[in-house]
Amino acid sequence: MVTVQTARQQAEQATEASTARHAIQGVLRSEARILNITYDNVELGASDFGGIYHHRPSAMVYPATADDIARVMRAVSRIPNLTVAARGNGHSINGQAQALHGVVIDMRSLKDPSSGSIHIGKEADGSFYADVGAGRLWIEVLDATLRHPGLPLAPRTWPDYLHLSVGGTLQNAGVGGQTFRHGPQISNVSKLDVVTVNGELKSCSPTSNAELFYASLGGLGQFGIITKARVLLERAPQKVRWIRVVYTDFKEFTQDQERLICGGCRGGGFDYLEGFVVANSSDEAAGWPQVPLPEGTYFNHRLLPANAGPMLYCLEIAKYFNADDVFALDQCISALLRPLRFVDGLLFHVDVSYRDFLNRVHMGEPKLRSLGLWDAPHPWMCLFVPKSNILAFDAVVFKQSKLVSKGIGGPMLVYPMLRSKWDHRTCAVIPNDEVFYLVAFLRFNLPSPKGPPVEKLLQENEEIVRLAKAANINLKFYLPHFRRQAEWQDHFGSKWNQFRLLKSKWDPKAILSPGQSIFSPSN
Ligand code: FAD
Repeated sequence: MVTVQTARQQAEQATEASTARHAIQGVLRSEARILNITYDNVELGASDFGGIYHHRPSAMVYPATADDIARVMRAVSRIPNLTVAARGNGHSINGQAQALHGVVIDMRSLKDPSSGSIHIGKEADGSFYADVGAGRLWIEVLDATLRHPGLPLAPRTWPDYLHLSVGGTLQNAGVGGQTFRHGPQISNVSKLDVVTVNGELKSCSPTSNAELFYASLGGLGQFGIITKARVLLERAPQKVRWIRVVYTDFKEFTQDQERLICGGCRGGGFDYLEGFVVANSSDEAAGWPQVPLPEGTYFNHRLLPANAGPMLYCLEIAKYFNADDVFALDQCISALLRPLRFVDGLLFHVDVSYRDFLNRVHMGEPKLRSLGLWDAPHPWMCLFVPKSNILAFDAVVFKQSKLVSKGIGGPMLVYPMLRSKWDHRTCAVIPNDEVFYLVAFLRFNLPSPKGPPVEKLLQENEEIVRLAKAANINLKFYLPHFRRQAEWQDHFGSKWNQFRLLKSKWDPKAILSPGQSIFSPSN
């Protein structure tokens, strides 16, 4: 949380920082000849996409190899209370990749052929995989796998934005419109290389060092530093038909989403499914102008029924295809759309290349940057809401509360996924219902004073959670952020004891990923 410090606190912190810095310089001196370390230019380590926390580390390390990381871990573990965070691409919201007065390891700098690059291989059963350096971005993985000679390949499941590192998304889960079909990204890796706090490089999989393998997936960076991951691949299609249809009734919207993800669809169903909520208004940023595909197509609001409420719900779906399947594609999509209850005439679609479809959020980035909305603070909040509570969530948050009725300055996503596609052995925390929804409030506001103060937006997030809890909605946080261990305990629920035991085994001094604020470092 943003707090005002007294002069005394600032002085104490400065002393602490200088002590830590001297200790680090001392212990890393012997490595410095071969390792790339900076002690002054550490701003990168104190920054992230959230822009709310700015915890300066004492040193930033730019490793070239997994062995560099191992040597840093061995050196650092000699200094009491010194913490270490791997930084993927710094797209956390709440300082999760920061380490106040500690050491931040920039995973993007891994360049060696073993842990910095992308190699495609084939299993005995004919399936393909890519061995990927953990600091690589998903867009780099996509480009490398699409270039596979003779047979373009790609990972099966994606986040919406591909400029996130492989190691970074695997700490959370990596969810998106393919999750209903293939599970999250943590369900689509079969092997990891992990550097432990003792500086050992361990190769792990479901059959070898399985405990560390599952701990590292969804483990919030608490158990080791992933240097390489084996990512499962499928054949990549050439093109994607990207479709949006509009609902006025939330119940019908969610029932149709569930019908589409739960099977029973002819033609194999859609390959991607998400959804979002907009205000029933002509507001450019928050209302129906957000819906049309391609952007700028006319939205005829006269087609909306007279009884439409304050919010509209947009189902976003996509079907992959190759140039020679177009006839079959039209038939298949008509059959899939026929039973759906969206508003007649409010259907938009566009055919795009597979790469452009997956990279769509990044393609909107220049516009947001030019408006000053990309480098501003982003108090985002993502929730998992069980199917049994999703109608209540719509009633108390989307329909009744004034908090979102005029939009939140960015997308409000609502889409379902299936618990059975998640592996319960990983550390990720999800609701108990077989169907549950991601509900994401992705705020893009200008910094104060042009936009609302970030504290106000954080309070609004808290109010949304309070309203939901008061309505007995049993939600879980995605990309969780808590300040007190009791809150973490509550979040993990029945997984807490196991999580704690894993921590005491793999990082007993609690030096890894301190920005998650789960455990306090101890001597
Ligand atoms: P960082 O912020 O650098 O790190 C995140 C955490 O992982 C930190 O605790 C860090 O210490 C740790 N860490 C990083 N690398 C390693 C490693 N190799 N080994 C061990 N620990 C490590 N998430 C989704 O699931 N789906 C989405 O569609 C999605 N869209 C997003 C869109 C945008 C624009 C943004 C900003 C975020 C989005 N996210 C999404 C959230 C994103 O997946 C997480 O914030 C993720 O952690 C970011 O990856 P990163 O590489 O930037 O990680």
